[in-house]
Amino acid sequence: MANKKVRVRFAPSPTGDLHVGNIRTALFDWAYARHTGGTFIFRIEDTDTTRVTDEYIAAAIDTLRWLGLQWDEGPKVGGDYGPYLQSQRMDVYAHWAQKFLDQKDAYYCYCTPAELEARRDAQRAANVAPGYDGQCRNLTAAQIAGYKDEGRLPVIRMRMPDGETTFVDQIRGEMSFDHKFVPDFVLVRGDGSPLYTLAVAVDDILMKVTHILRGEDLLSSTPRQIRVYQAMGVALEDYPTFAHLPFVMGQDNTKLSKRNGEVSIAWYREAGYLPEAICNYLALLGWSPGEDRENITMQELTELFTVERVNSSPARFDMKKLEAINGDKIRALTLDDFLERSLPFLKTARVITGSDEEIALVKSALPIIQERITRLNEIPAMLKFLFVKGFAVEADSVAKVSDAASKDVLKRALADLTPLTGWTHTSIESVLRASLIEELGLKPRVAFGSIRIAVTGSTVSPPLFESMELLGKNACLERISAALAL
Ligand code: GLU
Ligand code: ZN
Repeated sequence: MANKKVRVRFAPSPTGDLHVGNIRTALFDWAYARHTGGTFIFRIEDTDTTRVTDEYIAAAIDTLRWLGLQWDEGPKVGGDYGPYLQSQRMDVYAHWAQKFLDQKDAYYCYCTPAELEARRDAQRAANVAPGYDGQCRNLTAAQIAGYKDEGRLPVIRMRMPDGETTFVDQIRGEMSFDHKFVPDFVLVRGDGSPLYTLAVAVDDILMKVTHILRGEDLLSSTPRQIRVYQAMGVALEDYPTFAHLPFVMGQDNTKLSKRNGEVSIAWYREAGYLPEAICNYLALLGWSPGEDRENITMQELTELFTVERVNSSPARFDMKKLEAINGDKIRALTLDDFLERSLPFLKTARVITGSDEEIALVKSALPIIQERITRLNEIPAMLKFLFVKGFAVEADSVAKVSDAASKDVLKRALADLTPLTGWTHTSIESVLRASLIEELGLKPRVAFGSIRIAVTGSTVSPPLFESMELLGKNACLERISAALAL
């Protein structure tokens, strides 16, 4: 195995939007392939057509692309071992299932779900680990004929021999599974559709996968997959190497869910997280670049990623840390890049339509908010004041500029700003400081708070004097007058 070119695969079953756990797996697969100069394969496990839809498949493809996890083989790009959608490989699975039947590694099982359930109940009552009891292993021709007459549709089951399966997991060390707890398992349903265990094992072998990095939830399925490799006649040295990644827990240490940390990647995208921030943060879930480093680029990830540095204990998802990393990545953007990523948010929020003048104004405003935001979806509220037609103070801020003290502030500001000629943030600031803070002795928060509301309509906005400069003298004076009239 050592000299073989590395081939790793990410093989989701998109029964919904890809979530944090899926993407952490995809990221590690990708990083491992890039680090070793190997091949990153993307395979869609969509044999369960009732749960996997075309829409989810398209969304999965889009999400991986957005994150920058480009695959070398898979949907849209093709490759020598395709097709990479399992729904297009049904004949392959049928071929192997038949071969296993012929070899007597597998057999038809005619038990109905109700019969199986009744026997499992009996096992539980007798304190035996519930699982298939091997009833159909050696049916006689007469029994089979009887079941057929009843019109029963059999499933195909794999025979698990007595003994145990042992393999070395690259993260967890030697793993051993006693077959007492691995009952004969279903390969093909009564309707002829293959199950995950059959399809995944057959494809990993046929696609020449060398390393399987995937979530710990799949650890217990490994002995069944190894059983399929055996039945396929694969030589031991051609088995893929397994590495099961630690669970990702929610902030409260229970399974990650909507309740304790949002799970869908689509949600993060809409909330204004940058793909490189998501990847950077997810890379730290169970892996570490060493030296307590937290901020790394995709390039560094591919250089530094090794399975040896993956931890076996569960990782905890920390939204605060993700936000902090996102803020760092936003600050690291060039102005042009920041602009390009901001525009969709401003357009979706209908703050701008996208004209050249609007874009130029956005570009001049972005530097004053770049230090202040942690998510791109904060931008529309921050910059709205520059674009609103029919400007009005927000309803819940009206009271804050209508009291006598605020009126005094606004009157004085209007009087002192009107004659100002060079309209820059420094000149605006020195005029207002001289009159409101030094002369009237007001606290900055009180004095500038009223002006902020009058000019931007709200209590949240970028730095006040820069905002006033961007908005322009006429608009500022008009808005202060209008607030005075409230
Ligand atoms: N398709 C499986 C799932 O999404 C994962 C397959 C694998 O990585 O072995 O749960
Ligand atoms: Zn049976």
